[in-house]
Parts: sequence; C-alpha cells; structure tokens
Amino acid sequence: MDDSPSARPPFPAVDRVLAAPQAAVAIERYGRVATVAAVRASLAAARSAWLAGAAVDVSVERIAIVATARLEADDAPSQRRVLNLTGTVLHTNLGRALLSEEAIAAVTAAMRSPTALEFDVATGQRGERDDHVRGLLRELTGAEDAVAVNNNAAAVLLTLNSLSEGRETIVSRGELIEIGGSFRMPSIMARAGCRLVEVGTTNRTHLADYAEAIGPDTALLMKVHPSNYRVEGFTKEVAAKELAPLARERQLPLVDDLGSGVLVDLSAYGLQRERTVQEAVADGGDLVTFSGDKLLGGPQAGLVVGRADLVKRLAKNHLKRALRLDKLRLAALEATLKLYRDPDRLARRLPTLALLTRPADALKTLAARFAPALARAVGPAFAVAVVDAESQIGSGALPLAAIPSGGLAVSASEGKRAGSALTELAAAFRALSVPVIGRIADDRLIFDLRGLDDEAVFDAMLAELASAREGAAA
Ligand SMILES: *Cc1c(COP(=O)(O)O)cnc(C)c1O
Repeated sequence: MDDSPSARPPFPAVDRVLAAPQAAVAIERYGRVATVAAVRASLAAARSAWLAGAAVDVSVERIAIVATARLEADDAPSQRRVLNLTGTVLHTNLGRALLSEEAIAAVTAAMRSPTALEFDVATGQRGERDDHVRGLLRELTGAEDAVAVNNNAAAVLLTLNSLSEGRETIVSRGELIEIGGSFRMPSIMARAGCRLVEVGTTNRTHLADYAEAIGPDTALLMKVHPSNYRVEGFTKEVAAKELAPLARERQLPLVDDLGSGVLVDLSAYGLQRERTVQEAVADGGDLVTFSGDKLLGGPQAGLVVGRADLVKRLAKNHLKRALRLDKLRLAALEATLKLYRDPDRLARRLPTLALLTRPADALKTLAARFAPALARAVGPAFAVAVVDAESQIGSGALPLAAIPSGGLAVSASEGKRAGSALTELAAAFRALSVPVIGRIADDRLIFDLRGLDDEAVFDAMLAELASAREGAAA
C-alpha cells in the first residue's frame, strides 16, 4: 500500500470532527471526554481500513456519525433485556423470577430515600434489618423465627457454619447434589468448615443408616431436595418426617434444604404439587432453607426459617454480615411475601405464578397469531408451525414435571445444511435489539410462548428481523 502523503486520503483533525453538528449531539448526550475518545477511535479504524486497502469515507460528517454509533453501542446496558421463550420459566441464566409490580414499586421507593432499614422509628433505637421480613416469614411458614441472606447457597453455608463448624453433618449419598456447576453440597460443607458424613447408597438410604452414623462429633442431620434430578427405580429415601423423631431423640437439629421454597399448594393452581415450606416446618425441620427468586417469585435471597434458638446462632455468626441483604432486596422481598396474604389474587399479581398458570390452549392461540409474522421474519427457507410445547418451572423445582404449553417451531426446509441454518437463525434472533431466546431441539428452533412477557416487543422483533432480512435480500 502506498502510504505516501500524496496517496493518503485527507483524514480530518479531531477538532474539526468535534465541530461538526453531528458531534455536538454526541457531546450533549455522552460528554466531551467520551466523544473525543470515540472520534479518535473512529479515525484510527478508518486509517486501518485504508491501510488494509479498503475505500474509506473520511468526511468530517462520516467520522462523526461512526463515532456516535460507537458511543451508542457502548452505552447500551450490558445486562440486556431479552425475551425468554426457552420454555424454562425460572431460568437462572436469564435472571429467574420477574418481580411483581408491588415489589418493583417498593424497590423504587427504597432507592430514592433514606429508609428505616436498621432503625426502630418508635423508639429511635437501632433496629434489625431482617425484622422487615421476619414477621411475615413466621406468619406464612409457621416457623418460630427467620433470617434472610444473599441466596440459598449462602443460607446453607451460614446454617452449616453456625451449627456444625469443626463437627460432622450427616447427609444421604442420594442427596449430595450439584446445581448449575457451582453449588456442590460437599464443597459448601468444606467451605462451612464441617465434615460431611455420607450415609446409605446413591439409590437407597434407610433410617438405620442415619442412626448408625451418629457419633460424639455429629452436629446435624441434613436433608437436601434433589432439585435437578430424580433417582428412580429401586429407591428408598428417608423423609424428613421420619428423620425428625431420630433427630429429636439424639438432640440434633434437622436441617431441610428445600431449594425452591414454595409457600402455596401448587395443585390449587393446576400445577403438580411440591412440598411446601410450611410442611417442611411441620414435618419437624428445625431449620428450613430456600431461595427467594425461585418459586417464591421474589428477588435473589436465601431464607432460613425455624427454631428461634438456632436462628439466633445464625444471626450472631459474623458470616451473616458478609451475606446479608441490602435495603432494595429486603424491600422487594417484603412486598413479595405480602402478596401471599391474599392467595386468591396471587396468580394474577405474582408474575412467576401468572406465567406458570397460563393455559396451553391460550398459548397455542397466541402462537397462531404470531405464526404469519414469524414466517415473514424467517423467510421462505424455513417452515413455521404452531406446536404443543412442554415448559418446565426451572431452577430446580419439580425437575421432571412438564407443563403443557404452546409455541412455534421453525425448521429449515433444506435438509443438508439444516443444522447450521437453524444455529444461524437462532443467532439472528439473539442479535435483535431485544434478543429473542428460544431453544433448539429435534432439528427445530422452538419458541415456547409461556415465558413471553411482552407481546408488543415480540411483534416488533419479528418486524425487525423481517426488514433486516428483506433489506439484505434487496
Ligand atoms: C437452587 C438450590 C440451591 C441454591 O440456591 P440459590 O438461591 O441459587 O443460591 C441450594 N439447594 C437446593 C436444593 C437448590 O435447589
């Protein structure tokens, strides 16, 4: 490449670009410092493109426009809004539960002003932050007391460290779970400083196995909900209810890690029943741990409810300080828990339950409405069909329970390259201004409409894809 001054296009000086009207808009919106940096970067990119042999437009206007586009792209939130059409309602990678309007309002209010977070307004004395949810948790679960921490992993860590540090915790081999790669019960035990004593076998554990394992160093008996798998066939599990009398007789606390804590009988809403927190408390769990953002439908949190003397030991542990909730999540949690006082309106007000209870028929009708727009968006190389789908709750609740749903399936008409064509199409949906996330199964890209929380946005995204494709074809 001829890089002699005579061959080089007249790259403008940074100051000349900044004086252009297009740059003034960028300075107004993003500030002078960021705009100068973006103009420099755009000039450098133009220079590299020219050195690589490309024809470049080095007009002041063009550089200013490219710099503004760069600033806009950089300014978009990294935590993008997406449409969750995966069929997994509580998707950990997509942020789990959507909050209720009541919780959103509570968080917004708490953000703007000082709040009585740890302050008793009646006495003027210091208060406790967990008091904002303690009473509600007692009322809703029947437990004596409660603490709230960062997530359920933290709840388990705090419980084990407070009650079993330097001592033994007995768990069935059938319950040594790993969730999402990063939560492994044996690792949490090690971090909590307690020794894991495994009893029974993968498929069968008997009450006698627990009884025989109890020794002078035993501090706890623990039950863990097998959240993401099921041992089937020749199996035997000791229910918390059977384990509780043994724990009581040996004066050992029984800890029941439920994972996805549910506070209502799901069968009342047409879903498969899952053991509730109230039942776990009534079954004799001395401490019961569960998440705030799974079936409960609130913010990320870990809740421990149970015996007051044990909860006090958790609250006094210095780890609690490192694991505590901030005022925003406590506000969201309080507002979420209050919705449970009115079970009749719960399915309307709590988005998690609202999504889970959408009837399959209605979702198929909705799918039929979107089918023509989807067909136009994907173009003639793909076939679109309204299909029965199977949603799942996700985040470890009822792992094998499929909820009948409705959705749209896209398949590639051309057989040979069908796999890669679908992969590319899925990427095109993810590249939209609101990424649309489906799932590929059996050579089809499936969009399960159960998780669709905004129909207008889906309409707009289908139109965006259609015009991008038609524009590219033109
Ligand atoms: C999900 C789950 C956890 C971890 O809860 P997080 O709130 O994700 O930290 C722990 N135990 C069980 C049984 C679970 O299902």
